Amino acid sequence: MIKVSNLSKKFGDLAVLKDISFEVAKGEIVVIIGPSGTGKSTLLRCLNYLETPTTGQIHIGNATIDAISHKPKEVTTLRQQSSFVFQNYSLFANKTALQNVAESLITVWKIPAQEALATAKAILVKVGLEDKLDVYPSQLSGGQQQRVGIARAMAAKGEVILFDEPTSALDPEWVDEVLAVMKQLAFEKQTMIVVTHEMQFAKEVADRVIFMEDGFIVEQGSPKEVFDNPKHERTKAFVKRAL
Ligand code: ADP
Ligand code: MG
Repeated sequence: MIKVSNLSKKFGDLAVLKDISFEVAKGEIVVIIGPSGTGKSTLLRCLNYLETPTTGQIHIGNATIDAISHKPKEVTTLRQQSSFVFQNYSLFANKTALQNVAESLITVWKIPAQEALATAKAILVKVGLEDKLDVYPSQLSGGQQQRVGIARAMAAKGEVILFDEPTSALDPEWVDEVLAVMKQLAFEKQTMIVVTHEMQFAKEVADRVIFMEDGFIVEQGSPKEVFDNPKHERTKAFVKRAL
């Protein structure tokens, strides 16, 4: 369902992604690990064209796009295929939880407001926030805000949800409730690409782990392969430190 071919990204002279290729099947949970500054966020952002890749092709769902020759309409189509969960939630501060989740349904998918709000409510109930529908982000804990962030990504109806270190900014006490929502999504076979330092989550939930370093995919495989039997020295060193 997702195919990334020969993706590269430069910021000026700095090559951040170097010839990245990988595929993700529908329903697959892929976890990306690696040191900071390695290009993990940039890779996720390129998948959604929040950053424009320098070269390479991206295919997600019914969108196919080439970095060199893409048209504005293709970018719009590609963006509809995925949704983002950010480290810092990035909720609209002046909108309630319900409005935050309904937003994309109304603006992107042109669903009538009543119906969009009903759908948004059902999703917030699912992430355990039925009593916070009309509350603004500033009145929510970090864990609750991130659950709104995930609910918003679920509402966007993309093929894949992209998570960029969704628990890194949270106080430790809120991490588990966010991981629980992600596990539920994984259980329902929501296709996900998750950048995280939560190695236990990766071990338990990932179908596949990708280890990135220095703009390259160094190694990928099942959690067992990557964590218990890494092939490359760089993977061994990282996993040893991380576990
Ligand atoms: P990671 O998520 O693995 O920590 P990033 O993708 O955030 O890594 O960053 C990879 C490299 O790209 C870093 O050296 C970072 O400084 C650089 N970088 C990221 N975004 C930009 C940008 N907008 N402009 C210039 N350099 C950037
Ligand atoms: Mg990052």
